[in-house]
Amino acid sequence: MADPTPPAFGQIEEAALAEVLTSGQLWRGNGAGWGSRHDSAADAAADSAADRLEDAFTQWLGLPYAHAVNSGTSANEAAIAGLGLEPGDEVICPAACPAFVPFAVLAAGCIPVFADVHPETLLLTPDSIERAVSDRTRAVVAVHLWGLPAPIVEIMAMARRYGWKVVEDCAQAFGTLIGGRPVGTFGDACCFSLQQSKHITSGEGGVFATADPNTYSRAVLYSSAGVPHFRFGLPIPRKPPGSIGRGHIGFGHNHRIGEMQAAVALAQLSRLDEFNRRRAELVALIELELTRRQGVPVRKLQDFPEASVSYWRYPVIVPAGRGSFQEIPYLEPAFQRMDVERRTPFGLPLPKHVTYSPGSCPQAERGAAQIRALSVHHGLTDGELLASIDATWADL
Ligand SMILES: *Cc1c(COP(=O)(O)O)cnc(C)c1O
Repeated sequence: MADPTPPAFGQIEEAALAEVLTSGQLWRGNGAGWGSRHDSAADAAADSAADRLEDAFTQWLGLPYAHAVNSGTSANEAAIAGLGLEPGDEVICPAACPAFVPFAVLAAGCIPVFADVHPETLLLTPDSIERAVSDRTRAVVAVHLWGLPAPIVEIMAMARRYGWKVVEDCAQAFGTLIGGRPVGTFGDACCFSLQQSKHITSGEGGVFATADPNTYSRAVLYSSAGVPHFRFGLPIPRKPPGSIGRGHIGFGHNHRIGEMQAAVALAQLSRLDEFNRRRAELVALIELELTRRQGVPVRKLQDFPEASVSYWRYPVIVPAGRGSFQEIPYLEPAFQRMDVERRTPFGLPLPKHVTYSPGSCPQAERGAAQIRALSVHHGLTDGELLASIDATWADL
């Protein structure tokens, strides 16, 4: 049987890149000048590739506002910054997730508090979120790990009850649906990564999206060095008359995406369904092998009947101690040092109830030791996938 593996990059991406280079506009502003390309009559009609990427994301998600940035981590930071939290506010994060997630919380001057997770899915649970709550809790970051659906409906109900904001981290979940609705559209803001391991990629890159214009505006200022590059018809604050400043109306980092990244990402988004069809075939192949190979100590995860899962990687349960999940941030030296010094990198004191000591989220640690995740990257052939299954099983 021929492997229907789509080429990771092809003519669509090449044409998109060539178009950017020919245009001479390598950033979303105006050529070698400074400012909006819409300021000059010659370019007034030409939307940047970043603009078009944002428009495509809003259409794909059905959300009114999106902002493209230079990495998934930057998108996480933009999302947190967009919520308008105060220094020292606590943000609940899953105990099992890439460190980029709590780092984004720290970057906003807030304090990550880890909630334990389900030991077989590594997703947040409403019960463990409840146990992580304090009177300074202001937000939750729900991570749809591996493309699995975090219990976002339950989390939103809690958030409305307590007055929290919710960020959905969809870096690993391009196309996962819950009750037919895309993840990313339940919370107050969502973020995606375009790094090369993800469903679609421009090497590095990220996108933030929201339904709320204030959340969008704060996130754009944070990501664009405080310059109000607002789109989607939102009013752009004008400099006061006589001002000799350049127009930084707030603090921000420069997390702008370049045009070459944006153009490639846009081309890749147009191929997402093609990639996801191939990923689904690879998932079906793993599930077939799981039923076919008797006597191996590997178990399928629970089903998610309410969801259509767009797997980033395919997790399986293996014997205790044979797992290989390495992303429990509080076990990293960076958090251990904060725990000893009792402060964040910005000098903010950690409240007594916040600790980053090993053992504090036992289900996460148990889960990490019994889960392996197989790549279902759309670039894999059937043969490569079967070889990786053989290698994984042989290693147990
Ligand atoms: C990849 C990833 C990020 C960070 O994205 P980068 O583009 O690598 O900065 C954040 N959250 C999750 C869940 C990720 O998988």
